[in-house]
Amino acid sequence: MLAPLEAPKLEHLTPHDLVTYFRCPHEMELARALHTQRLTGTLGAVRTPLDVVPLRQSPLFSPPLTQIAVNEGRLELLDDDHLIYEDPGEDDLPMLFPPERVHIDPRFTNGHTTLVDTAWGFAGRPDLVVRRGDGGIFPVEYKETHLFGGYHQAHGRLFDTIQAIAECRLVEVTFGRRPSFGIVLYGDESGGGVHEGWVQIPYGDIEEKWLKVAMDQVRQDHTRPPVPALRNCGSCEPNSEGLCRFAAARYEGPHHHQAFLRSPRP
Ligand code: SF4
Repeated sequence: MLAPLEAPKLEHLTPHDLVTYFRCPHEMELARALHTQRLTGTLGAVRTPLDVVPLRQSPLFSPPLTQIAVNEGRLELLDDDHLIYEDPGEDDLPMLFPPERVHIDPRFTNGHTTLVDTAWGFAGRPDLVVRRGDGGIFPVEYKETHLFGGYHQAHGRLFDTIQAIAECRLVEVTFGRRPSFGIVLYGDESGGGVHEGWVQIPYGDIEEKWLKVAMDQVRQDHTRPPVPALRNCGSCEPNSEGLCRFAAARYEGPHHHQAFLRSPRP
């Protein structure tokens, strides 16, 4: 038998795909089908079989969490930090730098917006990328509405951790230097900064390995099973469109997950 001339094409993935898969693999599948519908007018194919057995939790294991540094208050920036990338698709990003410390990489000033990792079939857009005076580099993901009441209160920090790790990989591939960490910045627009905070998530060999294995796992999952649960289904966008036949709760709005986690436990 002759060997194939080309390696099989990798299924394209984004940081958002990983986050969604970690919550519910079927949600990832439906969200992508919806995205196809927005682009083409036709709902994309969904691989989840009708007789799939729902799961109690996602099959994706957690990212490493032991070295995460949690900080309350404003994000600490150094005098020689400067901004080299900003997602043009986000209107509400904080102004962290004065104009003289904004030096956007020329590759991203001509309408090109996405960081692409062709080797891993991966692409996405961090909110911001900062370069330090010593050449160090790190992505910042901004969560405008997610008040910071401590690391374990409110909102799904694990989802943010996954996003930060994924963005570190994209930054390394795009800018040629590995970030040693990614930042998730929790804003507080309505509270005047009272509940601001930021989390520093390390990025090293362990996190890179986790990311690679996670992407392999997502690609090898040809079932994409549902994980019906109040904490998932209440904020699931495809559920708001009536697309999921496994939903455990009605759609309650995009921040239901946050509100659910903030509620006192019975
Ligand atoms: S409604 Fe629930 S089970 Fe269905 S895709 Fe969304 S999160 Fe998954």
